[in-house]
Amino acid sequence: MSTMAAQRRQVGMRDETRSVSRVSVSLSGYDSLTVPIHRASTIRYPDAASFAARFERDADGYVYGLYGTPTHRYLEKKITELEEGARTVLAPSGQAAITCAMLAFVAAGERILIPDTVYGPVRDFAMHELVALGIEPVFYDPVDLEALDALIDDRTRLVWTESPGSVTLEMQDIQAIVRMAHAKGALVGCDNTWASPLNFKPLRHGADFVVEALSKHLAGHSDLILGSVTTRDDAQGLRLKASLGRLGIGTSPDDCALAARGIETLAVRLERSSASGLQIAAWLAEHPCIETVIHPALPENPGHEIWKRDFSGACGVFTFTLREQYVDQSFAALDVLQLISIGASWGGTKSLIAPTSVKALRTVRPWAGPDYLFRLNVGLEHPDDLQNDLERFFMAMTENSKTTPRTAAGYL
Ligand SMILES: *Cc1c(COP(=O)(O)O)cnc(C)c1O
Repeated sequence: MSTMAAQRRQVGMRDETRSVSRVSVSLSGYDSLTVPIHRASTIRYPDAASFAARFERDADGYVYGLYGTPTHRYLEKKITELEEGARTVLAPSGQAAITCAMLAFVAAGERILIPDTVYGPVRDFAMHELVALGIEPVFYDPVDLEALDALIDDRTRLVWTESPGSVTLEMQDIQAIVRMAHAKGALVGCDNTWASPLNFKPLRHGADFVVEALSKHLAGHSDLILGSVTTRDDAQGLRLKASLGRLGIGTSPDDCALAARGIETLAVRLERSSASGLQIAAWLAEHPCIETVIHPALPENPGHEIWKRDFSGACGVFTFTLREQYVDQSFAALDVLQLISIGASWGGTKSLIAPTSVKALRTVRPWAGPDYLFRLNVGLEHPDDLQNDLERFFMAMTENSKTTPRTAAGYL
């Protein structure tokens, strides 16, 4: 068709057609500093042959929106670099990242070893979904290496780790666990959400894959739910990617762009919330209302030596318990908090507190401490203001004679 003819055709277009047809825009000279946002279901192919060959495209190429756009690739690459891995697969939540990895790497008749202090919903998944599929979850004491070694049998396909553990923050010796698991042919996966890849790199210590709940520190603003799995081995990553694709599990490019933006400030946010958290933890440790402060960066914490050896920093998330005589007044007193919100999750800019209990969730290593715990997420407010807010809570608790039975149903 001649240029003239093409122009005539253009001119002849009806408005409906014009409305939906693509216009081309020059990208010349455009080199933005921002994370690109690409939304897509359909990927357009230049010709019939390339459409027919679409599944032969490189794993990082583009086939269909479900399998990712350049925005997904951007976040995957960023996380892969930070974790020092081979490949990152994104999932619609941290929980989905964990469950999809378990399902991709373990088959019916095999065993998964799971720490007793695992993130609560993972225990729930194991007891319901894994059991229904004929996969045997076995819970282990996160700090008893000898007992763990004895549990790794020839049906054990995966040793799951989470360090520090949920709420009670037990530190695990990942290197020792990797040695034991690999000696018996089992994989090691690590939930690294507390540390983030900036403060601990499980793959460097031999873990086979690492999960981050991006919803927490990495996205960092309490406004999205997203997860990642990064593998040390590319083939394993491809296997997981194929598995998620078959299950039809994808993520939103807008969420990925927000997470990638969050990562840009991760280092300064972690540094600040960690410093504020340590200031508050030290203050709480001396406070007359407090029984214990559980924080791996405090020298008196049982896991402190491992934390010091393996981690390069902390975060603002830790737990404290009250002296027994204040517990019954504490529940109602929480309502006087003005700055610190009551809520689960963590890793955002705003401070949070969540009352919880863990005894009913532990099946291997009974929780010996007071069973009414407060998990704090120290955000980016000034720590002195947060201390004043907590002092308001303690005052209400000690002055108020109103007692309420402690209520902390469900896991965090
Ligand atoms: C929050 C959390 C998860 C789950 O992440 P979601 O994105 O909320 O599903 C997994 N592990 C740990 C340690 C978490 O704190």
